[in-house]
Amino acid sequence: MRIDLHTHSSVSDGTDAPAELVAAAAAAGLDVVALSDHDTFDGLDEAVAVGHRLGVRVLRGIEISAEHDGTSVHLLGYGCRTDDAALATELARIRLGRSGRIPAMLAKLAEAGMPIDDVLADIAGDSPSVGRPHIADAMVAKGYVADRREAFDRYLADDGPMFVTRYSTPLELGLDLIRAAGGVAVIAHPWGRVSRDQLPPSLLAELAASGRLDGVEVDHQDHDAATRTELRELADGLALLATGSSDYHGTGKIDHDLGCNTTAADVLAEIDTRVSVRGGQL
Ligand code: AMP
Ligand code: ZN
Ligand code: FE
Ligand code: FE
Repeated sequence: MRIDLHTHSSVSDGTDAPAELVAAAAAAGLDVVALSDHDTFDGLDEAVAVGHRLGVRVLRGIEISAEHDGTSVHLLGYGCRTDDAALATELARIRLGRSGRIPAMLAKLAEAGMPIDDVLADIAGDSPSVGRPHIADAMVAKGYVADRREAFDRYLADDGPMFVTRYSTPLELGLDLIRAAGGVAVIAHPWGRVSRDQLPPSLLAELAASGRLDGVEVDHQDHDAATRTELRELADGLALLATGSSDYHGTGKIDHDLGCNTTAADVLAEIDTRVSVRGGQL
């Protein structure tokens, strides 16, 4: 079984439509793929339907923009009931923060001599969850940078000159909303862009002990071999599930091919069991 539990479609900041993503998953030989767009469930029904046709199981997922002490933490939720009112309200709040910060970033870019107003709408399309990668693509389209990476490295990263902050859900609230919606909560790439100091083992231990956190993403392209080993040992010691994924974004991220990291079948079985017990949506 080849299982990839974290991918993005053009409903957020990936480049494949949900149907294309599932077709690509089938072509890559995946048996199971989770679609986990940023802060929206909008692509899931299309992905699940295409999965049925192509014989790929699509696990319903989401990646929620959360924060802890001002540090960005991405929370993967699996099997949440997509009609859960409290979760839907919080996701709408995050998306409002996303669209609300765009004018300020456009103004900064224009002031720096890099207007993108004329191309951004086309690039973001009808995505309900606009993000910096869309801005990066607009900068590429205008010829200001060569690719998304250069846009982030020079301008858009959290400490970059064009960055404007936005609302993110407090970590513990995010965990509780996922659980209350019947879902399973996994912290995405815990020590990817964020360091061990910002998201320390003691915090992961506390969240595990409180029963709020189900797992951590261990096998991710932003983790080197030593980080993976350390995180896997930590997860084992805390009885947290250890997942793996590509964090595929279509052509939006290089070296994140579908199935480049995978999740073990027994871990998926445990996720399924927990979702069933909690009354989530599979
Ligand atoms: P936003 O959702 O607008 O805050 O943008 C965050 C998204 O941009 C993340 O989910 C990543 O996919 C991407 N991203 C954030 N920081 C970087 C970076 N330094 N380099 C490349 N991509 C990044
Ligand atoms: Zn993304
Ligand atoms: Fe992420
Ligand atoms: Fe992601």
